[in-house]
Amino acid sequence: MSRYWDDETVYSQPSAAELKAKAKESVKRAGKKGKAYEPAVCRTKRGAICESWWGQAWCLNLERYADYASRLERGKGYVRNGAVIDLNISPGRVEAKVQGRRKTPYKVEIRIGRLSEENCQKIIDRCTSRIESLETLVKGEFPEELKDIFTEEGGLFPNPREISFSCSCPDWAMMCKHVAAVMYGIGIRFDENPFYFFTLRGIDADKFIGVALENSVEKMLSNAGAPSERIIADSDLSALFGVV
Ligand SMILES: [Zn+2]
Repeated sequence: MSRYWDDETVYSQPSAAELKAKAKESVKRAGKKGKAYEPAVCRTKRGAICESWWGQAWCLNLERYADYASRLERGKGYVRNGAVIDLNISPGRVEAKVQGRRKTPYKVEIRIGRLSEENCQKIIDRCTSRIESLETLVKGEFPEELKDIFTEEGGLFPNPREISFSCSCPDWAMMCKHVAAVMYGIGIRFDENPFYFFTLRGIDADKFIGVALENSVEKMLSNAGAPSERIIADSDLSALFGVV
C-alpha cells in the first residue's frame, strides 16, 4: 500500500555540504536586506560541542533531561555544520534561525523561566565568602568551585519544566532537530561569554556580583571582629610547640 509519509520522507536528512551551502546563501540574502546574523559557530571538530566546562555542563544537562536522544544527536550535527545561522539571547528568551533543507531558514524560539528572587538570593548566598571565585567571575570566566550553583535544583540551569520551545518547521515531534541545534548553540554562546547564563535567567550579572562581593566583605569584617576558632587553635598549637 502507498503511504503519504514514507520512511524516507520522514527521515531524509540534508547532507553536511547541502546544509553549509544553504546556510551560506541564507546569511548572504539576509545581509543584502541589511540584517546581520549572529551565527553560533562550533569550534570543536568532534566530541563535545562546547569548549568551556560550563558550556559542556550545559550540554550534559540537556542530554540528561531530554528524552529525545536521536533528535539531540541530529541537532548536534546541525550546529556543527553551521546550520544555526542566527542566535540571540535576551532575558528569558532565545530567538534563532536554523537552516534546514528548504531555502528559508526555520524560526526557533526557546523560552526559559526567569530565576525566582528566592533562588537568586540563594545563589548569591552560596557565592558569598568565595572572593577569589567572584574575582574570576568578574574576569568573564566561571570558576569551577562555583559549579554546584549551576546544576543543583534551583540553580542557574533551568529544569525541563522551565523550558518551552517552538519551531516553524512541520515536524510535530516534541523536540525537532532545529530546536535541539539551538539548544547546543546556546552552549556555544555560553562558551563565548558566560554572562549569558545570567541574561537568559533574567539576572543582571553586574548587580549579582556587586551584591555577592558586598556580602563577602561584610562577612569578612564581622569575622575579623571576633577571633575565629582557627586562630585560637593556631595559638594553642604555637604554645604546644613553643613557637612564638
Ligand atoms: Zn524544527
